[in-house]
Amino acid sequence: MKIANLKNRLVLVKDGRALDVESATFGAFAADPQDIYENWDAFTEWGKSADFTAAVDYTDDQLDAVVPRPRQIFAIGLNYREHAAEAGFELPTHPMVFTKFQSSIAAPQADIELPSNSVDYEVELVVVIGKQARRVSVEDAWDYVAGLTAGQDISERAVQSRGPAPQFNLAKSFPNFSPIGPVVVTPDEFADRDSIRVRTLLSDGGSTGDSTETKQDGNTSDLIFSVAELIARLSQTLTLFAGDLIFTGTPAGVAIGKQPPVFLRKGQTLVTVIDGVGELRNRLV
Ligand code: ZN
Repeated sequence: MKIANLKNRLVLVKDGRALDVESATFGAFAADPQDIYENWDAFTEWGKSADFTAAVDYTDDQLDAVVPRPRQIFAIGLNYREHAAEAGFELPTHPMVFTKFQSSIAAPQADIELPSNSVDYEVELVVVIGKQARRVSVEDAWDYVAGLTAGQDISERAVQSRGPAPQFNLAKSFPNFSPIGPVVVTPDEFADRDSIRVRTLLSDGGSTGDSTETKQDGNTSDLIFSVAELIARLSQTLTLFAGDLIFTGTPAGVAIGKQPPVFLRKGQTLVTVIDGVGELRNRLV
């Protein structure tokens, strides 16, 4: 099952068509895409047999952020071995956790304003929590996942390293630094929910035809702390709520890992591809 946010209304999507959930259920489920996780089990039960007769065609550029107002947003640093190495860090023995503030959430095709010349990309599989989780085991952890989506953890590297201690939360929370979407996909849709290809492509967007370069090409099977491990470990410390997001970390290939770094430039289009989810296309302005 896949859901999206079409003009600030929750829709169920299939084959390029969108079914307005509130209308199709005569108000049994509300239109606000953030609210549905409070009622996730009943919703997915309905979704299995939803009638798409009243569905409308849509395109990804019409979509808003699929999870628009998560109560908590977690992001995990250094969660792929090669990325930890390129960043010059030892492998973590506990997940390295920071937050991205809610105001940085953006639509799948939102423009991203570059505040400086040291802005970096980080493709990440994003987990959407489906019910409240506290001290859950690794074995049970997937039961707390509503679905998976694509995300970019855009990072301003100068701010991130400014001061006597790192400023991850600020550096990764400029406006539109957290584009997500285009859809949330339930875990059962994946052949292997623990092995998902994630990529960042960068298009120069020139008028003489795009030249597109692959910057990151990873697979979530290489995560140091898997989705289930992250949920288990986070929930040992705090409570995860329905509709929360976990950015699970980025594979190797980021700009800061290059000598010299090649950061994002105005005019480029950042393309984020996660197999089974879809793609984000964000113009850099
Ligand atoms: Zn990240």
